[in-house]
Amino acid sequence: MTRQQAKRPIKTIAVIGGGTAGWMSAAAISKSFGKNIQVQLVESEEIGLIGVGEATVPHISAFNRLINIDEAEFVRQTQGTFKLGIQFNDWGKIGDSYVHGFGTIGRDLGLMPFHQYWLKARAAGKAKDIAHYSLNTVAAPLGKFMAPPRDAPANSPLAEIAYAYHFDAVLYARFLRKHAEALGVQRTEGKVIAVNQNGETGFVESVTLESGAQISADLFIDCTGFRALLIEDTLQAGFEDWTHWLPCDRALAVPCEKVEAPTPYTRSTARSAGWQWRIPLQHRTGNGYVYSSQFISDSDATDMLLGSLDGRALADPKPIRFRTGKRRKLWDKNVVAIGLAGGFIEPLESTAIFLIQAGISRFMSLFPHTDFEPVLQNTYNAQMQFEYERIRDFIILHYHATERDDSEFWNYVRTMSIPSSLQGYMDLFAADGQFFREGTELFGLTSWVQVMLGQGIRPRSYHPAVDWVKDEDMLSLVSHVEKVVSSNVALMPRHEDFIARHCAAVSV
Ligand code: FAD
Repeated sequence: MTRQQAKRPIKTIAVIGGGTAGWMSAAAISKSFGKNIQVQLVESEEIGLIGVGEATVPHISAFNRLINIDEAEFVRQTQGTFKLGIQFNDWGKIGDSYVHGFGTIGRDLGLMPFHQYWLKARAAGKAKDIAHYSLNTVAAPLGKFMAPPRDAPANSPLAEIAYAYHFDAVLYARFLRKHAEALGVQRTEGKVIAVNQNGETGFVESVTLESGAQISADLFIDCTGFRALLIEDTLQAGFEDWTHWLPCDRALAVPCEKVEAPTPYTRSTARSAGWQWRIPLQHRTGNGYVYSSQFISDSDATDMLLGSLDGRALADPKPIRFRTGKRRKLWDKNVVAIGLAGGFIEPLESTAIFLIQAGISRFMSLFPHTDFEPVLQNTYNAQMQFEYERIRDFIILHYHATERDDSEFWNYVRTMSIPSSLQGYMDLFAADGQFFREGTELFGLTSWVQVMLGQGIRPRSYHPAVDWVKDEDMLSLVSHVEKVVSSNVALMPRHEDFIARHCAAVSV
């Protein structure tokens, strides 16, 4: 047996950047490792934050629990609202609408997931649209919301309502900062003007601020957003570009006045050269147009966005440029890139904050000593590559599985070649409605099935085991689920009433 070596532990971490990525990283590491490791964060108010990133997926509640965030306080402080899913309008074809809801569809029977029985019942004309069989997709368009009540019976769909949040990105970063500072994170204001490497190893030893101050650490987390100051400017980790599959490369973001009670869902409306988001908050509505500069000019995109707001614009549209893809290495030497510094996939399914969270938790699991054993970063990089690629495929699905042929943009995405991994998922579903989740990928059966059906993929058949259940039992399952879902949604309060009762922001 080999003798164990005593290795030198990491004692100091410098997080460079104070956006959502920086403050989430600093808070999580300080909460988990703070007794033994000193965490400091450098940010520049002059440079500021990207200031978008207002819709999430349910996993964020695990992060909130990790750092002991009280939900009501968090929603109140960030002008937050609740999200049961995303409504997709005009995606499969103009006039179509479906909701990708969180949670589950129906109830499984035997080995088969519910949608398999539904496929047979639907083909026989004896089932409604799939949206009728999931609590989230029925409740969302009706404007109903509640968090699972503590006294809900375990077998009630109310006990497992899956939800995420919408919030004001700037208020969220401020909220996280307060929380992280209370956990012991030391903040330094200042602009980094130089990154200093060891002449032999290339490891980063310190950063120099405009003031002349130097910040040294054993480990650096690059959260400098699209600037990627350490991971790319300094270490040149390289970038894997996915623009040929996801051609949107610009966005315009604009808040507008709130004209109605906030919907408990994000809306995504397909447009001629991309799509428009609508995110309801307590004090305003966030809007944006994500588009491809190959297919529409900035001024036409601005006109389209401003012409389709449902309230008065509260600012000029903020232009943002991006490139879809990721760093070839998200962890290189003693630098880990989290957030936009690491990569970006457009916000169609609100996945960027999830990727921040996934990066932080994987990194904490694979946390190194100061010898930075290469196997740790290789494992991290491979796992994050998988995570990014599976999300990438899910986003490409929305564009590629469409009948739209009304613009050059849609003709391009409908006919382009797609990754073989995505083609495999689509072929499997198109055959017998099957789906297999690969490893720990973010989106599971409910998501893929809802989006594949919503985008117009109709399986040719269903799993043979469905025929082993008597038709009357299968039909009784389908109609029972529909009744249970609608009777439970009837018990749910309106979203705005739930907010007013539990977490109304101070100045709405
Ligand atoms: P930033 O917010 O850009 O922060 C960078 C930080 O680095 C800042 O503090 C800056 O001051 C600092 N910095 C940079 N250079 C220096 C320097 N030289 N010296 C010192 N400090 C420096 N995500 C979602 O999950 N849901 C969404 O709905 C969503 N919508 C989006 C819409 C658009 C159009 C875009 C572009 C992104 C969206 N995102 C969304 C992604 C989300 O905005 C980001 O993942 C999140 O805000 C994290 O950003 P960040 O912290 O990496 O970068």
